[in-house]
Amino acid sequence: MRNVFRLADRAAPIEDVPDPLRVRLPLGGARLLVRVGDAVAAGQRVAESPGLRGDVHASIGGVAAAVDGDFLTISRDPDAAPAPERLGEVAGADADALRRGLAAMGVPCADLTDADLLVVNALEPEPGVTALGALCRFESPAMLAGARLAQRIAEPSRIVLAAPRGAGLSLGPNPVHELEPRYPDGLDALTVRAVTGRERPGNAVVVGADRLWLMGRAALEGRAATRAVLTVRGRNLRVAVGASVRHVLDFAGLAAHEGDRVLLGGALRGEAVWDLDAPVPRGAYALTVLPRAAGAVYTDAACMNCGECHLICPARILVGIMARFAEFGRFEGAQRYGLDSCLECGLCAWVCPARRPLLQFIRLARRELARAAEAQPPAASMETPGDAPVEAPGAAPEARREVPA
Ligand code: SF4
Ligand code: SF4
Repeated sequence: MRNVFRLADRAAPIEDVPDPLRVRLPLGGARLLVRVGDAVAAGQRVAESPGLRGDVHASIGGVAAAVDGDFLTISRDPDAAPAPERLGEVAGADADALRRGLAAMGVPCADLTDADLLVVNALEPEPGVTALGALCRFESPAMLAGARLAQRIAEPSRIVLAAPRGAGLSLGPNPVHELEPRYPDGLDALTVRAVTGRERPGNAVVVGADRLWLMGRAALEGRAATRAVLTVRGRNLRVAVGASVRHVLDFAGLAAHEGDRVLLGGALRGEAVWDLDAPVPRGAYALTVLPRAAGAVYTDAACMNCGECHLICPARILVGIMARFAEFGRFEGAQRYGLDSCLECGLCAWVCPARRPLLQFIRLARRELARAAEAQPPAASMETPGDAPVEAPGAAPEARREVPA
């Protein structure tokens, strides 16, 4: 089956969604710096992440109202005057200090290492998304400030903007490398391959246009990473991180009915939200409502070994086999069949005639392996030593894990 998906090369302007009365901030394992009942200012750092994953900041001012699981809820006082975000600073003489400063402002930057080439990726991550193009087109001061900061951190000899052919995007004096706007070539690994002609070149790093914008916003205005720009049915909406999906849908005039699927992301890679009060996380780029009639319906049908998933996979993975390992809880087996190379493009699931939830199996395997590694870092094993490389499905039904929606 041929891949016919195209990426957008035009973008609508960015609209600001009014702040909600409540945000629920995903903490991602970060250590809380406030307690329930504390007053918090907009922009204040409220949790510290390990490494350079990016700290968590209040996207609205108010009161820390609750901590449940891995989320901090902040309630805004509707009568209080809107407080400006507290300004911070990304300061430092050397790259390490700049990285630490950026992470403290909420921008993940562990991967921003020394490189000969820095690729700024402005190709959209999915069909129907225009958020990255909008940032390049309408937020150019922040984008340029981000590029200057990235230059100081990674010290590349060249910065290249990878952009859809004919979109007319630019990034100051830096050269533009135009690419066919064809999905999934906007995914970082494929964009770098297209720009350099090599797979995983050791001397290149890639930064998405959305992250460069956050870097520039931090450098230029001292603002922490408290906003995300999402494409919602053709519009680009700037939203407070932690605002509910319902809040965004209401602003966009969209409703989700019984049986519809609401995805954070687009139709190919998006993750279904469990309810409309789910928060918009940092790094989100789209919100999609798939009507019941249009959405893909997945089944637990067995694989037919037709090979369509393998033929379309840009990472050349034997997806059918890998997914069977994941389906039956044999996650390290899935790793042996290329799990770590998967780009999560979702094309395999899209073409599967059995409608198997292949992307969900892949994500399940990754999460379970990550969880196992955190719980038992050394020599964690989830398989018996005698596992054969390929195994018939159904061999261990008791090990089957619940598949996320
Ligand atoms: S989601 Fe992963 S396995 Fe499936 S086609 Fe994309 S890269 Fe291949
Ligand atoms: S997983 Fe789906 S597309 Fe892949 S071989 Fe099996 S039936 Fe075919």
